[in-house]
Amino acid sequence: MDFLRPASWEEALAAKAEHPTAVPIAGGTDVMVEINFDHRRPEYLMDLGRIADLTEWEVGADSVRLGASVPYSRIMEHLRAELPGLALASHTVASPQIRNRGGVGGNLGTASPAGDAHPALLAAGAEVEAESVRGTRRIPIDAFYTGVKRNALEPDELIRAVHVRRAEGPQQFSKVGTRNAMVIAVCAFGLALHPGTRTVRTGIGSAAPTPIRATAAEEFLNAALEEGGFWDNGRVVTPSAAKQFADLCAAACNPIDDVRGTADYRRHAVGVMARRTLTWTWESYRGARHTTEGAA
Ligand SMILES: Cc1cc2nc3c(=O)[nH]c(=O)nc-3n(C[C@H](O)[C@H](O)[C@H](O)COP(=O)(O)OP(=O)(O)OC[C@H]3O[C@@H](n4cnc5c(N)ncnc54)[C@H](O)[C@@H]3O)c2cc1C
Repeated sequence: MDFLRPASWEEALAAKAEHPTAVPIAGGTDVMVEINFDHRRPEYLMDLGRIADLTEWEVGADSVRLGASVPYSRIMEHLRAELPGLALASHTVASPQIRNRGGVGGNLGTASPAGDAHPALLAAGAEVEAESVRGTRRIPIDAFYTGVKRNALEPDELIRAVHVRRAEGPQQFSKVGTRNAMVIAVCAFGLALHPGTRTVRTGIGSAAPTPIRATAAEEFLNAALEEGGFWDNGRVVTPSAAKQFADLCAAACNPIDDVRGTADYRRHAVGVMARRTLTWTWESYRGARHTTEGAA
């Protein structure tokens, strides 16, 4: 195995163009496990550790440009206000040691349906900045996951950053595991309220071959909230609307039975998480409206 150590982003792109089978390594918390278990024996391993701008982020007016290798611990520490859903998801990843090394670029590279960043990215709205010597393109997060542990990257492309929409409303992330920490999701759910566009977005993990959005559930809820004037009057979402939303989220799943849980359990749990996260985010939205009105 040859070890490539590009000193700059340009060198990394050139090396990937020359050796498209080279496996990039960022935190190594997925790659090293695969190599140690002999699931993967790449001809070239390409260390991205010398490229400083991959660990930096920039907060813009509408979105955060998150370098591909920014570790979860830094997201939790520095981007809680801008990216609350992703910060909550980061909290649930493994242990402090893994959170200090692993990041969103690696989660996207692996594209496991159980990766914790995915539901949060889908719910917030994100684009993956992919680059090769041929140029740069932004891949909408919904189009990024193409199959079980497959993604839309071309063999010569690397992920440079992820552009995640800045939160303009409450966001939540919920995960079911077989214990409280150091656990791969049995299933997970992300929800984000976008009051500016009066829309709700979802993200489901570990309950289909890829991370997915529950688009029918979103459409139903968006229409119900609009029709009832809920964004303006701040009323409590009716139990029947919350139940229908939860049922549609469960119906969006296409899970499997495996050692971590049955397909039926996953569908049920997604419904429960959908209802709970809707209640939490909506209560928080109502609270914020009340505070704003009180101050006016
Ligand atoms: C003990 C343990 C517990 C874990 N628990 C969780 C958990 O609870 N939740 C969870 O989601 N994950 C978990 N993981 C998996 C892992 O930590 C995450 O997927 C993490 O986000 C990977 O990030 P990384 O930087 O370490 O990626 P790496 O291992 O360096 O890379 C992962 C993949 O992404 C590719 N890649 C990395 N950077 C780039 C780039 N810039 N461009 C293109 N491709 C790239 C690599 O080639 C590889 O295919 C766990 C892992 C371990 C070992």
